[in-house]
Amino acid sequence: MTAKALVQRDFTAVIGLEVHVQLETDTKIFCGCSTRSNTTEPNTRTCPVCLGLPGALPVLNEAAVKSAVKVGKALNADIAEETQFHRKNYYYPDLTKNFQISQYDAPICADGQLSITVEGDRREVAIRRAHLEEDPGSLTHQGGNIDTAEYTLVDYNRAGTPLMEIVTEPDFRSPAETRAFLSKLEEVLEYLGIFDPTEDGSLRVDANISLIPTEEVDDGSITPSALESANRTEVKNISSHKGAEKALAYEVTRQRNAVERGRAIEQETRHWDESRGITVSMRSKEAEKDYRYFPESDLPPLAVADWKDTVSIPELPDARRERFREEYALDTESAAKLTSTKAVADFFENVAEQFDPALAATWVADNLLGELNYRDMSVSDIDDRFEEFTYLIELVDTGDITTKNAEEVVLRRMLDEELTPEAVIESEGLGRVDEDAVVTAVTDALDENPDAIEDYHAGENGAVNFLVGQVMQKTGGSADPSDVNTLLRERLEEWYCQQLLKVIQSCSFENRVVVRRFSRLFRTEYQADCLRVNSRKV
Ligand code: ADP
Ligand code: MG
Ligand code: ZN
Repeated sequence: MTAKALVQRDFTAVIGLEVHVQLETDTKIFCGCSTRSNTTEPNTRTCPVCLGLPGALPVLNEAAVKSAVKVGKALNADIAEETQFHRKNYYYPDLTKNFQISQYDAPICADGQLSITVEGDRREVAIRRAHLEEDPGSLTHQGGNIDTAEYTLVDYNRAGTPLMEIVTEPDFRSPAETRAFLSKLEEVLEYLGIFDPTEDGSLRVDANISLIPTEEVDDGSITPSALESANRTEVKNISSHKGAEKALAYEVTRQRNAVERGRAIEQETRHWDESRGITVSMRSKEAEKDYRYFPESDLPPLAVADWKDTVSIPELPDARRERFREEYALDTESAAKLTSTKAVADFFENVAEQFDPALAATWVADNLLGELNYRDMSVSDIDDRFEEFTYLIELVDTGDITTKNAEEVVLRRMLDEELTPEAVIESEGLGRVDEDAVVTAVTDALDENPDAIEDYHAGENGAVNFLVGQVMQKTGGSADPSDVNTLLRERLEEWYCQQLLKVIQSCSFENRVVVRRFSRLFRTEYQADCLRVNSRKV
């Protein structure tokens, strides 16, 4: 095809992802070294196995297998009865054995799917396979980036961390879809309790992308020959959802520009340079045969069947969202907020057991999560203070404290100063609202501020706010501002009626009748009623 003909064709971006997820286990996948540390000191969590010393033999970590089975179940995949490990051979400084123990033709999970929602449309993304492997160590390039560094440091602490590589079919048609997928995947993994999204580099993505003539991308499915013949690039080193979207957006534009100029796309591996926001060519793409896969003879085939039956998974985010909507009559937005993480959902359900679900939802979704987010905290930070929070909600529920004080004073100080609700209430003097004191304060505020009354009747809304402020001050903040507002407005209207009454009283009898007849013309029902009642007494 000529360059000109190429330019005139319409192309669709076709994208498939290979996602590497670190499984949160206590120890590494083939040795007893810890996967966590409170020190960042390099090369402190290593042993002959993860350093690949001669004669050291791998022993499979059961926790990693269980996690893989959970992933398989959550992705609705087929879980193998028996699986096997293979050696994937290459030279890399971050894996001293010069091979990675991975899986080849017998992955632990295959043929799954995950549904995503993009711009309101729900779609299934097909998962080709998900297999177990070991993470390499980490490299730090000194004095430059990957190709300009003076030298590179190697840290083997990460080497041997269990990884699951999840490979999708090329089902994405835009960078935004990959972002939705990665968020969803992360959410599911977090629900499974096998993944820590806050850990640096716990999710890493290789993104494959090609441009395929739109007519060959036939309503979602592509002909295998079109997939085969399209030259694709594989972008490596992506470590976040946003990174994936940006790297792919860059790559779509780069490939489109090339095609429009009649240039061919090289089949190659490219590196995402996060700081520069570009992809750079690394090497021509390696093919499967380059890795010389062969069975890992130090590990026998693994019978997965037992775990398949015994390992269970919790209710997943979509199902939980749906149930929350029905069981607690929540709207879509609240249900989404309250299921954003498993910890939040569990917290909410525990609160909802004790209170009216609507109150529980408002408190957890709006007040608590809002204040936590603001402080960069999460529900897990206050897990051991559950009783303190429910006690606060109880005080609101029984009217012992106003919603405003509970949130803006008590909750905030509880979080900022780690105080108990009792301690804050005591120190702020926020006990039960004394209703007589509020009424007195309202009377005093009106007596002391005749100008504000005039302003109110002249239509100035700010006047009420001013008076509310006065009452709040007089009650030391313990009154409920919205109750005070209502009370003030009543009293202000009453005042207006009194003035009218005075006018009526000074009228002749005939005029009084007229005034009563026309009382329905007064500004509010309340005034009219008030006048009707009172003028009878005149
Ligand atoms: P490789 O063996 O080279 O890694 P695979 O066929 O295993 O290639 O596919 C790896 C990833 O590339 C998968 O996520 C798959 O969806 C994706 N992929 C395959 N063909 C294409 C294509 N033409 N365009 C974009 N992505 C593709
Ligand atoms: Mg690959
Ligand atoms: Zn080790």
